[in-house]
Amino acid sequence: MKYPALTILLMSLPGFLSPVAVAQDEFGDALMKQFHLITSKDALDWVTELSSPKYNGRLSGSPEYIAASEWVARNLREWGIKPGGDNGSYFQWFDKGYNEVHETGSLYMHIPAGEGNVIKKYYTFPDQFFPGMTSANGEITAEVVYIGYGVSAPEHNYDDYKGIDVSGKIVLMNRDVPYKDAGNPEYARWVQYCYHQYKLENAVKHGAAGMLYIDGTHANPNISYDPDFIWCGIGREPLNDIFAGSGTSNEEILEKINESMKPRSFGTGVIFTIQAETTWHPEGRVCNVIGIIEGTDPQLKDEVIIIGGHLDGVGNCGVLLPGALDNASGIADILGTAKAMALSGIPLKRSVMFLFIGGEEVGLLGSQFYIDHPRFAWEKTLCYINLDMVGNGTGFFIGSGKNYPGIYRFFEEANREYLHRDMRTSEASDNYGRPRSDGIIFSRAGIPTLGIGITGRLKPVYYHQPGDTPEMVTPEVMEDVSKLLYVAITKMAREDEPVIK
Ligand SMILES: [Zn+2]
Repeated sequence: MKYPALTILLMSLPGFLSPVAVAQDEFGDALMKQFHLITSKDALDWVTELSSPKYNGRLSGSPEYIAASEWVARNLREWGIKPGGDNGSYFQWFDKGYNEVHETGSLYMHIPAGEGNVIKKYYTFPDQFFPGMTSANGEITAEVVYIGYGVSAPEHNYDDYKGIDVSGKIVLMNRDVPYKDAGNPEYARWVQYCYHQYKLENAVKHGAAGMLYIDGTHANPNISYDPDFIWCGIGREPLNDIFAGSGTSNEEILEKINESMKPRSFGTGVIFTIQAETTWHPEGRVCNVIGIIEGTDPQLKDEVIIIGGHLDGVGNCGVLLPGALDNASGIADILGTAKAMALSGIPLKRSVMFLFIGGEEVGLLGSQFYIDHPRFAWEKTLCYINLDMVGNGTGFFIGSGKNYPGIYRFFEEANREYLHRDMRTSEASDNYGRPRSDGIIFSRAGIPTLGIGITGRLKPVYYHQPGDTPEMVTPEVMEDVSKLLYVAITKMAREDEPVIK
């Protein structure tokens, strides 16, 4: 349908409604037409496409990630959305090496069985161990040395490696740091030690040859690679075995460390073997995919509303990690909105950008790259709306809506008029910790940022695990997220008055 043509036709009819009323009615009709063409079937089809083996879990740097980004760009082109990337393309490129994990590998403990014999106790994937997504290729057998958090922080007079020799050993390490109050500005002085990258590099620096990382049994590619360092994640069972007969536990020791801020590292005397089958690819490249619907108002078109989410996933660990909820769901929500906005033909005053972000799972690289290479002036960037894991449940959650009531009201009105789902919002609280989402990157850059989420979970969440399949999303709520964004963003982009944040 062609909006301007219809305007002329209706306005030329004698004795018809006033032009303003006609424009209003016509806007409502045009809005509703595409509203009803946003479907849960499209949402599920797109999640299924992005989760399929041909994209191999969309690991940033891999050729399959690039294939997924090309699929997104093809859709944008088909709907008439303009490219906003490098040199007139949809792609904004940056470099990032990646690690290919061929097999899940193995982990076992050596149990002395007398007369030099050893029983190998193997652990099962994925509940007892998870391959290190940036592990080097090969095998290591060594004593396990417990090193608390693996942190060396001279300015805090804290060093988990002090007085303990880890050279050639396997370090057993917890995530995070002993200081726990992320809402306290003091935490900012600890944050550099929270990064997984730091922890691995610090272990390598101290001569360790391997690592058992107590970080849950899920894929974590947000960590450094070293060609001589083999590691994996571990769950409850191997941890219990290491501490068996010691009269204490990891939790008990951590409590004491946190309380005293004094390390308690020790050699466990337990021997483990980690096997990994991987290939490092230093030549990897990643991209953000950028599509733009330009505003039509000569002044206001320089303002932009950005809707974004991460397109990448955690790849393949010898078993496909489909990343359906995380974050094919968010991408499908955005696609539903983008398609409806583009095909409605409703002229927007402000510009709207659809930002499909790469490099999120390997350290929020794509959002930072966009911040460093923006397509619109920062003072003209009205807001950033982030979607991550938005596809499982019944209600809407608009994070940080209380911080930006002038933006939030568009979502509230859209829900009240058209969707009628339970909707909640929140006020962002200070957090000095390691940033955990693209939204934080935008928000720390000073952009009003709201995160869309879902309440009332209906299905189990298999975070960074093989179980994150398309069966684990609820497409009905995804349809409504796209509809909510479509109505709210269309109205925000058309607003005559300045949008007060
Ligand atoms: Zn995610």
